[in-house]
Amino acid sequence: MSDKKYDAIIIGGGPAGYSAGIYLARAMLKTLLIESYTILSQLMLTDDIENYPGVPGKIKGFELIDNFKKQAESFELTITEGFVEKIIQIDDEKRKWSIITQNESKYIAESVIAATGAKARNLGVPGEDELRGKGVSYCAICDGAFFKNRDVVVVGGGDTAIQEALFLTRYASKVSIVHRRDRLRAEKILQQQAFKNGKIDFIWDSTVDAIEGNNNVENIKVKNVKTKKITDFKCNGIFIFVGFTPNTDYMKEVVKTDDSGWIITDSKMNTNIPGIFAAGDLRANTYRQIATAVGDGVTAALSCEKYISGIRGTEYI
Ligand code: NAP
Repeated sequence: MSDKKYDAIIIGGGPAGYSAGIYLARAMLKTLLIESYTILSQLMLTDDIENYPGVPGKIKGFELIDNFKKQAESFELTITEGFVEKIIQIDDEKRKWSIITQNESKYIAESVIAATGAKARNLGVPGEDELRGKGVSYCAICDGAFFKNRDVVVVGGGDTAIQEALFLTRYASKVSIVHRRDRLRAEKILQQQAFKNGKIDFIWDSTVDAIEGNNNVENIKVKNVKTKKITDFKCNGIFIFVGFTPNTDYMKEVVKTDDSGWIITDSKMNTNIPGIFAAGDLRANTYRQIATAVGDGVTAALSCEKYISGIRGTEYI
């Protein structure tokens, strides 16, 4: 086997990918994990994590990822950088897959675990694209420090919006959360922290209809969904956390997804194509937590190991 041929290739360097990698490396399968520096794991962009079981207190997202990586490397998992663009089934060897990256590196594998997660969704309003990086942001950890003593708006009512709003209070003088309902979707403990934080206030039943400013964000148009009234709201930045879209473009022609591109699997992380597994946030109908991604990664690795031993006739029955 040449260096570029593997038993299994894991695409994605987040909790699901590394968990799969730890298990496959320990199963002594020749495994490559391809991680992208273009699309970072959401965990890298997360500040304090308090709900990962087994880690009392707080751990930073990048520290947790580093721990996953160190553990995987201790079992000699091969890791490389690359942005996967395409996966093609090799015609003359039906059970092999060719994985091609943006810089045209090509890897061959008998099985693939897709674990590329999801990325922040856009709001899709006027001014959003034009003022991106000029006050419009999707990452408080990356950009929060630019808003020291300034007024910012956070859009969304889920876990991400509230967690990021709390983080932004370290820098901003005021954080106004604009949410389209009159209550939050976020977990109760985060809600409680936000409600008692003196720097956070809420603009309920409202959406952001436009983002305005010359070179930087200066104003947003806020629409009350009940009264339909539109008002101007002055701010220096707007952080958008209205959910995610899956990073599955390279998989859309290969496996079954739902209408929004989330990959459909069974409970063993099998996709509709034998030998291709999916784990973590890119799956349809899943709770998108670090711990569930880890569970998915482990499940996918065990299914993958079973699949490979099955096609080789080495299964332990
Ligand atoms: P989410 O749970 O899908 O929440 C998205 C929020 O944005 C919702 O409040 C939604 O409103 C709102 N929204 C969606 N489209 C909108 C639009 N066009 N205009 C205005 N508001 C809009 O997304 P998330 O908070 O990013 O969380 C994603 C997953 O990651 C969840 O499963 C979450 O539990 C998990 N997560 C967990 C943690 C943690 O454990 N601490 C941290 C981060 C994320 P509605 O409520 O009206 O639908």
